[in-house]
Amino acid sequence: MLKFIGSVAASNFKRLGSPFKVSWAVTYRCNLRCKMCNIWDKKDHPPEVNADEIGALFSRPHHVHWLGITGGEPFLRTDLIDIVDAALTPSKTLNALHFATNGSYTDRVENLVHTLKKRHKKLKIVFTVSIDGPEALHNHIRGIDGTWGRALATFKMLKKIPNVKPQFGFTLSHNNLDKFERTFLALGDVYPALTFDDMTVNVFQRSNFYYENHAMPELDPARLTREIQKILAMDKDRLSLNNFLRRKYLKLYLQFLKTRKSPVKCQSFASTCFLDPYGNLFPCAVYNRKLLNIKETVLSLNEIWQLKEALRIHNECARNKCPSCWSPCDAYSAMGGSIIPTVFK
Ligand code: SF4
Ligand code: SF4
Repeated sequence: MLKFIGSVAASNFKRLGSPFKVSWAVTYRCNLRCKMCNIWDKKDHPPEVNADEIGALFSRPHHVHWLGITGGEPFLRTDLIDIVDAALTPSKTLNALHFATNGSYTDRVENLVHTLKKRHKKLKIVFTVSIDGPEALHNHIRGIDGTWGRALATFKMLKKIPNVKPQFGFTLSHNNLDKFERTFLALGDVYPALTFDDMTVNVFQRSNFYYENHAMPELDPARLTREIQKILAMDKDRLSLNNFLRRKYLKLYLQFLKTRKSPVKCQSFASTCFLDPYGNLFPCAVYNRKLLNIKETVLSLNEIWQLKEALRIHNECARNKCPSCWSPCDAYSAMGGSIIPTVFK
C-alpha cells in the first residue's frame, strides 16, 4: 500500500517508468442490452487474452499496483479466476483489484472473491455494481428484466465479506438524467444502511472503439449541470476517500462541461493505460490510439513505457490532443497525479 501511495505521489512530479494502474476489459461479450452502450452488439470476437498471455506480461518487470477489470461483463469469462490469478501470482506490486460488473452473476462473484482472497492474503478488492435507476427504470435501461434484483443480491452478498468494498455505480445518461435522488431513495428502501460512501456517480462517456456509442448525442449540458449540482447538494456524508473522490470528480465535471478539456493533466500512458480483450494496448478507452499488442511483444511494461511512441502518445493525452474526456476510469488517476490542483479546484 505504501508503495502504491508513493507511486501516486511521484506521478505529481514526473512521468512514471511504468503504469501503476491497468484497466483491462477482459471481454466485450455482455448479457445485458444497455441503452447507452453498444458493447453487447459488437460482431467480431477474436481470441481473448488468456491466462498464459497475461501471466507472461505480468511476469516481466512492472510496477502495476491496481488492476481494473471491466468488460462487457467480466463474469461471463469462465476462466476469470485463472486470468486474474495469472496476473497476480508473479507480480510483486499488484495487490488491488477493481471489478466493474452489472451484478448478474452473484455466485460467480462470490466464488471468485473467496478463491482469490485465499490465494492472495493481502489483496484489496473493490466492486462497482451498476445501478442506473429505481427497479423498473434500471431494468428498462439495462434491457433485461430482473437485472435490478440480481445486482442488489450481488451487492448485499459482497457487503458481508470482510475487506471487500462494494459500491453501486450510477451512470448519468439520457435515460436517467434527473433520477439520481429517486434511485438513492429506492436503494435505501431495500438496503437501509445505504450511505453516499456506497455510491459512485459517473457520467456516460462516448467511445468509437470501446462502447461504440459515438453516434449517440451528448447529454444536455444545462440539465447535466443542474443534476450534478443537485447530487452535490444532497451529499453531506462524512469524509472518506470514496466520498472525496466522487465529489471532486463531479465538481470537476462542471469545469469539463465549460471547457471540454480534462480539468487536470491526463495521466494516460503515464500512470494508466487500457488493455482490450484481444491484447491491444491503448492510452484509455476513449482515445483510439493503439500502441501495440501484448500478445506480439516480449517487452515488459517498464520497457513499453520507454518506447518513443508511448511517450509521444502520452504527450498528446497530457496536452488534450485527444478526444478529451473526464471519464471516471481515468479521472481518479488524473486527480492523484495533480493532488494540489485537485484539492484547490
Ligand atoms: S454498460 Fe456494461 S452491462 Fe451494459 S451493455 Fe455495456 S458492458 Fe454490458
Ligand atoms: S483526456 Fe484524452 S487521453 Fe485522457 S482519458 Fe480522456 S480521451 Fe483518454
